[in-house]
Amino acid sequence: MYKPIIGLEIHVELKTETKMFCGCLNPSASSGQAASSGQEEKQPNANICPICLAHPGTLPKANKKAVEAVLKLGMALNGKIPETSKFDRKNYFYPDLPKGYQISQYDKPLVLGGELKDIKITRVHLEEDTARLLHQNGDSLVDFNRAGVPLMELVTEPDIKTGEEAVAFAKELQLILRYLSISEANMEKGQMRVEANVSISKDDKFGTKVEVKNLNSFRAVKDAIDYEIKRQEEVLEKGEKVRHETRGWDENKKITVSQRGKEKAHDYRYFPEPDLPPMDISKFDLDGLRAQITELPQQKRERFIKEYDLTPEQVEIFIENRDLSDYFETSVSELKSELPSANCQLLYNYLTSDIRGLINELEIGIKKLNISPENFADLIVLAVKGEISSRIAKDLIREMHASGNDPRQIIKEKGLGQISDEKEIEKIIQQVIEENPLAVEDYKKGKQNIIQFLIGKTMKNFKGRANPELLKKLFEENLSK
Ligand code: ADP
Ligand code: ZN
Ligand code: MG
Repeated sequence: MYKPIIGLEIHVELKTETKMFCGCLNPSASSGQAASSGQEEKQPNANICPICLAHPGTLPKANKKAVEAVLKLGMALNGKIPETSKFDRKNYFYPDLPKGYQISQYDKPLVLGGELKDIKITRVHLEEDTARLLHQNGDSLVDFNRAGVPLMELVTEPDIKTGEEAVAFAKELQLILRYLSISEANMEKGQMRVEANVSISKDDKFGTKVEVKNLNSFRAVKDAIDYEIKRQEEVLEKGEKVRHETRGWDENKKITVSQRGKEKAHDYRYFPEPDLPPMDISKFDLDGLRAQITELPQQKRERFIKEYDLTPEQVEIFIENRDLSDYFETSVSELKSELPSANCQLLYNYLTSDIRGLINELEIGIKKLNISPENFADLIVLAVKGEISSRIAKDLIREMHASGNDPRQIIKEKGLGQISDEKEIEKIIQQVIEENPLAVEDYKKGKQNIIQFLIGKTMKNFKGRANPELLKKLFEENLSK
């Protein structure tokens, strides 16, 4: 059987305020007045200057924040930070590259080695993004807004064995980039671009690798790798050879298509960038940068499982959604201060089902929810103590969001409290028993489940507010008479 071998090359646009080698605003940054991706299409070439347009006589100056971001990532991935690093020119001709070369890093990248999800990282380096080409009506247009945006490239060792593993790696990297505020790493917006190198082999010798480009989503990464593994198997089964080439993923046809051969190795004629001095990394405040690495996704998973007694599956929603997770943590601490013995499960359930349902329905984020964590915790206290049924709790959540009031106040105003008055309940039970003689007969003949039907009838009378345990108890007593 063939064993697949996969290595990834991942490019990420950093969200620094300004570009890599000039003072232009970076359109990939979330803040700042630079044309955002939406505006950008309307207003091409808004964030440009002689430097990122490569006018003769201009000089680049490296963006310290971009270098620091990559160093920070390197430390978070347990990579080696070298003492010195430098920029190099990667020479090639293409209309999206105004200088005729890209400033990149060749033999002295900012980060060497590292590891993530048991996959070894070869290196992480810094370069500049190219312009965007637009082909329309037979013309080719060039938008330089993206030219010179800080671009980080991470290369993995060929340690990955399946498309699924590749996606898991890329997703975890995306989380880390977001946690460290390095990039939003949105694949659809092109802020994170994944290239997959795929080969297969029957023994320990590596087979010929194919590089797959144009992967614009995690789905595409998985599908393209799976497809490529199968395609290479079929090629080899036919007795043919896998061609060393670059292929593109065709999203519509769900196939990879040959783009260009790689028989002749590219000669980029790399040489040190003479306009930028080599970097002395010891001059950077590495301890300060390390201190900026707060809790990473994996540490957060472990803490949440331990601290809140949640399952690995349950915590994942908080790893991805940090606003929801902040709301959860604040609510839990409010809950614990009122009811130290309460566990988090009920709060978790209401938050991830009812509250999340409400904010999804209203298409608002949790930050726009008009229920303070204190009030939400109060609601959970009422539910834990059995003072309100789950039916009432659901209604209360809507009322709380609409009014911003705390649950006790709403209960008082709307008369929503749970009814536990035995006499009052008993009266309705008698009535339901009289009105449903057939069901009562069935129950007495041994159809125990019919009690749910009778409880339901009674509950309806109380608009869902009767204490369900009490109802059940009273019915059982009355029916066994
Ligand atoms: P190139 O010189 O063609 O760019 P590199 O050695 O720089 O090749 O590797 C680029 C990427 O390809 C890395 O992610 C690496 O892990 C991966 N890679 C190398 N050899 C193989 C192989 N035989 N099969 C799959 N991936 C590979
Ligand atoms: Zn510029
Ligand atoms: Mg390479």
